[in-house]
Amino acid sequence: MYDAIHPILGSKKASEKFQKGAGGDISMQIDIIAENIIINALENENVNILLISEEIGEKYIGDKQKAIENQNILIVDPVDGSNNAVRGIPYCSVSIAYANGEKIGDIKRAVVLDLISKDIYWANKGEGAYLNEKKIHVSDFNQSDILLFELNLPKKNAFKNIERLLPIIQHFHRLRILGSSALTLCQVACGSMEAFINLRESNRLVDVAAGYLILKEADGKFFSIKGADFDLELSIKTKFPFIACNSNLESFLKEELIKMGH
Ligand SMILES: [Mg+2]
Repeated sequence: MYDAIHPILGSKKASEKFQKGAGGDISMQIDIIAENIIINALENENVNILLISEEIGEKYIGDKQKAIENQNILIVDPVDGSNNAVRGIPYCSVSIAYANGEKIGDIKRAVVLDLISKDIYWANKGEGAYLNEKKIHVSDFNQSDILLFELNLPKKNAFKNIERLLPIIQHFHRLRILGSSALTLCQVACGSMEAFINLRESNRLVDVAAGYLILKEADGKFFSIKGADFDLELSIKTKFPFIACNSNLESFLKEELIKMGH
């Protein structure tokens, strides 16, 4: 995967546009190449699985009936951060999550591959989260520390949203908007950042399925803008805003969100 995608990062070839992908964004050549590598690899294995992937949408691989009975689902974003990838900004990843069941809580295994550094973040449910060989954990910083966070806002009402979020934003030292949700969830998971506030209604399951498990296994928190746990369907149509953070910031963020009346 890395060998096929890394050489075309930032290239003209990578940015050639295709039709709109099932996830809603315009698919580019790099997205299609990456997705096809994954589909081919799965077809060469003897698997019966439902693939939920950004460009193709939902596709059964192997025996459809067996895949439905087994409830085996693979949730893939072939390139998360495609705009970075085609423009040569070194922040993009491949995100793959395996679930056995129908809900986000049924995700059992996750991998996020950093397409620049080749680092692999991964987790198996109940067994902790890792960066390559090393076990990772969220930071233990709280409001009195120097906090780094990412904030993704919808274009609509951006200023209004910033104003409403001021009680939260003023506690953060620096803001980053890096462009790959999968990787940023991993940054929070390994303690490089403290929180990721993504208010975009258009945020897709495929972007965050793997990062979700990696964050949770690193003792991070992941909740809705109402401060509630998620019980989301595993589907290409599932889109939702979310908050991710280390465990020390959970109650502060939830209280502020409730005050805001989200
Ligand atoms: Mg993508």
